[in-house]
Amino acid sequence: MTSPTPNPHAGAPFTDDDAAIRAALEDVSIPTLMCALVHITGDPSWIRGEFQPAGLFLNEYQGFMDEELQSRAREAALPVIAAYRDAGCVPAAAPSTELCQEMMSYLACEPVADEYVPLFLEELGLDGRDAGAIEWNEADIPAARRENFPVVVIGCGQSGLLAGIRLTEAGIPFTILEKAAGPGGTWFDNRYPGARVDVGSHFYCYSFEPSDHWTEYFSQQPELQAYFERVLHDYGIAEHTRFNTEVVSATYDEAAATWSVVARAADGTEDTLVARAVISAVGALNYPNTPAFAGIDDFAGPAFHSARWDHSIDYTGKRVAMIGAGASGFQIAPTIAPDVEHLTIFQRTAQWMFPNPNYHRTVPEGDKWAMRHLPFYNRWFRFLTFWPGAGIDVERSRVDPDYDDSDGLAISEHNLSTRGFFLGFIAEQVGDDPELLAKVTPDYPATGKRTLQDNGSWLNALKRDNVDLVRTGIERITETGVVTVDGTEHPVDIICFATGFRHNDFLWPMTITGRDGIVLNEMWGDQPKAHLGIDMPNFPNFFCMYGPGTNLASGGSLIFHSECQIRYIMGCLELLLAGEHRAMEPTTDAFEAYAAHHQSEISQMVWAHWSVTNSHYKNADGAVYTLSPWPIPTYWRMTHQVDTDNYTFS
Ligand code: NAP
Repeated sequence: MTSPTPNPHAGAPFTDDDAAIRAALEDVSIPTLMCALVHITGDPSWIRGEFQPAGLFLNEYQGFMDEELQSRAREAALPVIAAYRDAGCVPAAAPSTELCQEMMSYLACEPVADEYVPLFLEELGLDGRDAGAIEWNEADIPAARRENFPVVVIGCGQSGLLAGIRLTEAGIPFTILEKAAGPGGTWFDNRYPGARVDVGSHFYCYSFEPSDHWTEYFSQQPELQAYFERVLHDYGIAEHTRFNTEVVSATYDEAAATWSVVARAADGTEDTLVARAVISAVGALNYPNTPAFAGIDDFAGPAFHSARWDHSIDYTGKRVAMIGAGASGFQIAPTIAPDVEHLTIFQRTAQWMFPNPNYHRTVPEGDKWAMRHLPFYNRWFRFLTFWPGAGIDVERSRVDPDYDDSDGLAISEHNLSTRGFFLGFIAEQVGDDPELLAKVTPDYPATGKRTLQDNGSWLNALKRDNVDLVRTGIERITETGVVTVDGTEHPVDIICFATGFRHNDFLWPMTITGRDGIVLNEMWGDQPKAHLGIDMPNFPNFFCMYGPGTNLASGGSLIFHSECQIRYIMGCLELLLAGEHRAMEPTTDAFEAYAAHHQSEISQMVWAHWSVTNSHYKNADGAVYTLSPWPIPTYWRMTHQVDTDNYTFS
């Protein structure tokens, strides 16, 4: 008899003495600790008694419990954890589904409805299983059939890597083609000073990988890039990956039911890979957008996009212009401001932001210890960061048709109160400076664009003597600086374009040609659409991850979304292989019905509201094809299983 595989989330046994445990408990999230104590003791009274969190807000880990109550909780926990240690670190029997749901509701500080429970049970993986792991049956899909089904994955960011992991588990031969020199996608490209994730790291990572190692609650780019590098090697994906190789085109051959994928190496040489299926994992915010400012080529000094930061240029003591101040600019400016002689920030539209005191916070050793040793603590901490962006916020983004939105400042009563909350935070940080306050106050509804997070660093940077925020439009760039439309010349030595990405140009600049010579980008035009954001008619066996209509503006993690998408895509491959089909594609009816549903929903959301201008979420007509309108559980359900009625097989 083989012994059962140990549950990777049950915590590593420990022998630390009471003093060490006491010290660790100083750093933990108390509501999360209470859930771990339920696992240790099997006693639900930990979450039913006095240690009740008062509320849950994104990135607030103590549930607004007062210090005194937290301290009592630590005192109560210490002997229980010590006894657990002394008994050999064996958790009690697994809690029932009902108790798990009660723990979810306890942490969420609101009832977690039955419909959400399967998602979170799967996501939490309390049974130690990776629910997305591929476990195909040899009898249904013999190895020889899998071996004759080569797949090309385009891109080795978080989604391409994930595709590689699942294809490996399935025993399908695959090649990942990646234009950059290493893995990580966004986290390989965006190396600008201050680059860090704005989704909590313990949630912004693969659900099946440990998460006790993050140094900060919101990791910086080098740690994220190193994470993807490690995953690449740990899962044996490196040997399937060609870096410095850009896909130029992919063309479907109807007779052979294969895709010919043309790849260009760094030296310009091209070769063609033949695949039975293609998974595009190129991301959506990957191609820099550098606006064609008049005179842009006249500038004599160094000029580069934020996603192509030139680290050979020393900005210390220099006059720097940063054109654009969205999510990237918000991180760059506070980081470089102390070192430059002068920083001039050109911002066309003010940005909404909300407070996140943990944004730059290091994970204290005690919290790391708890994640490593206390059973399921790390999983419940993941839930704590996941839940606030798990769906409710999407409904709050809906325009209330009965609300008078004619001033363009809010879309509902709730949105108006969010505006007040955000404004209060901004005003408090700005202090007594009405001119600055006017410049940083957005004139469109709160959350209408990607809402940024701040712990004061952005607004503090703006208050520095060597920083100017210019809200006047740019007329042209000259040899020596930037001229605004009021005629003012701003002399600078370096220009950084923090001007974002070509969000609406999905899969650009590749030429993807499906059946009958249909070119994907021509078919899409300015309205990119895909069934579930994943597949399109006339493009058989071609699947997208992070495709049209799947970006998340209201919370959630794109890695979670990728796990939904790859599960679905692997479900498609399983159907193809088990049924010995040559190809599959969504029916036009399914595609059109999904696209219509998507548009009818998204057009009611704040991101599509008329008052939100200059948004990278919108196309030239002001419509939104980039974002998902779905609460996360809805998308999870939609992608959980392939509905064969929506497909034609050949
Ligand atoms: P962005 O949010 O699109 O910001 C681009 C900035 O450039 C905006 O200030 C924009 O002004 C300005 N701009 C663009 N075209 C312009 C023009 N023709 N003239 C003047 N100004 C112009 O780009 P980003 O900051 O690189 O962020 C893109 C997305 O990447 C974010 O929404 C987020 O999803 C993601 N991101 C995340 C993180 C993170 O996790 N911390 C960090 C960076 C990026 P307008 O606002 O007026 O258009």
